[in-house]
Amino acid sequence: LSDRLGGVFDRLTKQGALSEEDVAAAMREVRVALLEADVSLPVARSFVKSVTAKATGSAVTKSITPGQQVVKIVHDELIKVLQGEGEPDALRIDNPPAPILMVGLQGSGKTTTTAKLAKRLKDREKKRVLLASLDTNRPAAMEQLAILGQQIGVDTLPIVPGENAVQIAKRAKQQATLGGYDVYMLDTAGRLHIDEVLMDEVQAVRDVANPRETLLVVDGLTGQDAVNVATEFDGKVGISGVVLTRMDGDGRGGAALSMRAVTGKPIRFVGLGEKMDALEAFDAQRVAGRILGMGDIVALVEKAQEVLEVEQAERMMKRFQKGLFNMNDLKGQLEQMMKMGGMQSIMGMMPGMGKMAKQAEAAGFDDKAIKRQIALINSMTKKERANPDLLQASRKKRIAAGAGMEVSELNKLLKMQKQMADTMKKLGKMGKGGMLKQAMR
Ligand code: GDP
Ligand code: MG
Repeated sequence: LSDRLGGVFDRLTKQGALSEEDVAAAMREVRVALLEADVSLPVARSFVKSVTAKATGSAVTKSITPGQQVVKIVHDELIKVLQGEGEPDALRIDNPPAPILMVGLQGSGKTTTTAKLAKRLKDREKKRVLLASLDTNRPAAMEQLAILGQQIGVDTLPIVPGENAVQIAKRAKQQATLGGYDVYMLDTAGRLHIDEVLMDEVQAVRDVANPRETLLVVDGLTGQDAVNVATEFDGKVGISGVVLTRMDGDGRGGAALSMRAVTGKPIRFVGLGEKMDALEAFDAQRVAGRILGMGDIVALVEKAQEVLEVEQAERMMKRFQKGLFNMNDLKGQLEQMMKMGGMQSIMGMMPGMGKMAKQAEAAGFDDKAIKRQIALINSMTKKERANPDLLQASRKKRIAAGAGMEVSELNKLLKMQKQMADTMKKLGKMGKGGMLKQAMR
C-alpha cells in the first residue's frame, strides 16, 4: 500500500490543508487496500467515507507530506474503530460460578479456543474453571475437550451418554456451583452453516445458563463470511464479544474491522496457532498495521510524529542559541520532563546541562515538584512569562498566592530560569550553536 500511496502523494502539492482531491486520490488506494485485506465491501465503503470527511481540510503540518498526513489519519481511525470506546478490558466473570458460552461455526476453533481461554483464566487470573462440551452430535468432540482439559490441567464435566445440550448445561451449572468453581465454560455444538435447529439449541442453552459472556469464535481468514456469521449469531443468540482465530495465517485481518464495524461488539482475543498458549488479547494497533499492509505504514506514521517533535525542538534551539530562555521555554522543558518521565529531556542531552539535571534530580526534582513549578508559571501573565525580569515584589506575591505557594518557592524558580538562560547564552556563543545542534543529534 505504501508504494502505491507514495505514487499518489508525489503528485500531491504541499499546501496548508488537505484538499478534497488530495484526500479522494488517497482514499481510492486506501479502499483497495482494505478490500485486499478482506474487509467487507460495505464496511470498506463506509470507513472510507467517514475518514474522507475527517481528513478533508485538516491541516498539513509543515515537513510532513500530505501523504503521511492521510496515512496517519487513516491509521488512527482504524485503531479507533477496532478498539471501540469504553470497552470493559476484562471478561465479566464475577459472581461465581460465571458461565461463559462459546458459540460459532464448526471448525472455527471453538473447542481449541475454549481450552486456551480456560488455561489463560487459570494461569493469569487464578480462576478455577470447569469445561463442558455440549457437542452431542460428535462424540469425538467431547473427547477432544476432555483431552485438552487434561493437557492444561483444567477439569471437564464427566461425559454422560444420551444427554442433550440443555441437560448438559444444567449439569455443568450444578457441578460448578457444588464444586466451587469460579467459571464454567460451555463449548457448544459446531455447525457447518447457520442452521435453524442448532440455533434453537444454542438459544435454549443460553436460556438455562444465562451466560455472563457469550463469545463468538470466528475464523479470521474467512473475511466477508465471518461478518455474516457474526450478524446471524448476534441476532439470534446475542454475543458479548468475538474471538478471531487463525490470525497466525497470512490473512490480513480485515475480518476484524468488518466484525467490529458491523456488530459493534468488542474483539476480545485472537488465536495465533494451535498450541494452548497461542491466545492473545486483541491489540488494535497491531491489527491496524496489518490491515494497512504491514509495518511500513506504521513506521511512516511514527516518523511523521518524530519529525514534528524534532521541528519543535529545533525551533527551541534557535531561541536558546540567542540566549533567549524565558518562562515559556522553562515551562516547555518542565513539561517535556514530565512526559519523558525524568530528567532525560532535551536539557539532559545538552552539554553542560546534564550536570544541572543531575543536581536538580538530587534536590528532589520529582514529578510533584515539577507540577508545582508549572503551576507557578501558569499563574504568571503572558508578559511576565516572556520577560521574567518584570517580577518585582508585588507581582511575586500575586503569582505565589495564585498558585497557592510561598514567594520563596517562586524565587527558586526564578533563580533556576536565570541560571538556565545564562548557560544557554554561554553555550550559544561558544559553539555558535554548533555544539547545541550536535547535542540534538
Ligand atoms: P471447532 O470445531 O470450532 O471446535 O474447532 P476446533 O477447536 O476443533 O479447531 C479446528 C482446527 O483449527 C484444529 O485443528 C485447531 O488446532 C485449529 N485451530 C484453532 N485455532 C487456531 C488458531 O488460532 N490458529 C491455527 N493455526 N489453528 C487453529
Ligand atoms: Mg468443537
